[in-house]
Amino acid sequence: MFDFLQMTLSGRVPQEHSGSNFNLRWRWLAQGVLQLEPLHGYRKSVVLSAGIHGNETAPIELLAALVSDLLHGKRRLKVRLLVIFGNPSAMINGERYNQIDLNRLFCRHYEHFPKCPETERAAQLEALVTEFFNQSKTDHRLHFDLHTAIRESHHQRFGLLPHKDKGIYSRTMLDWLHHAGIEALVINQAPSGTFTYFTSQYCQADSCTLELGKARPFGQNDLNQFALISQGLLSLISGINLLPDAAEPMKVYRVTQELKKISDQFCLNFPESIKNFTRFSAGDILARDGEISYQVQQPDEWILFPNASVRPGLRAGLMLVQVPTASLYG
Ligand SMILES: [Zn+2]
Repeated sequence: MFDFLQMTLSGRVPQEHSGSNFNLRWRWLAQGVLQLEPLHGYRKSVVLSAGIHGNETAPIELLAALVSDLLHGKRRLKVRLLVIFGNPSAMINGERYNQIDLNRLFCRHYEHFPKCPETERAAQLEALVTEFFNQSKTDHRLHFDLHTAIRESHHQRFGLLPHKDKGIYSRTMLDWLHHAGIEALVINQAPSGTFTYFTSQYCQADSCTLELGKARPFGQNDLNQFALISQGLLSLISGINLLPDAAEPMKVYRVTQELKKISDQFCLNFPESIKNFTRFSAGDILARDGEISYQVQQPDEWILFPNASVRPGLRAGLMLVQVPTASLYG
């Protein structure tokens, strides 16, 4: 049986493109893309992706272990599953991406950029995922895109929900996220070029981007930190019941303003090392860009993904407000 991660990192093609064991049938679809289907029916079609940012290694290792257990028959498969290592060439180089951030190129945004490995990969992944969901015999479709963040965070594990016109999210998915140790959710307020926005909007999947902790090089991850999500994924694909919740309810945030970098004069008014979900109060100055200053508008706002070194024209941070959990259910 081949090692899916090693195969992906070597750029080789497996000798056999499909096979089976007592429980499942697998099909290798492209570098870093493997489809697994239970022999005895399923009720969910699930896409699990990692390595959309090539240096976010822990979730890649997590999915590699899951696939290995499935292929070796150590775990039962109860769902139709597509496992994706998003950006193999960036994974090989240990980089976030080669030329363009792959997670901005979905929903045909790749058409607006010169051809490069990432634009081609975005088009290929869109096609493969669309085909996977089109062939599904169930409407219960899920996609979790697994990431790790660059900076420390007040919430160790959090989810980014893609924008939905009606703003209503699947309760089953939200319950699963809670059980899997996700502490907070951030609702995106606008369409975007992310992988989960694509699967949510164009494949009618319940999708969420998961930030699971801090990124480290291959082999240096403390996978214990990922125990809850690992159990969560196992329960999802093998149909095992999860332990009852222990944790507090998830906190829910929505984006209230973007810190947009307009010129090279842009500077943040706090240290670069600040943690995600640090709270600011009304009137605090967040950033300056020449004559413009960004200020906290609401009584409290929380910062997410501040990064002053992006190119002018791009987003240098998001400001969040807390909203009641019930707002997710419409
Ligand atoms: Zn990422």
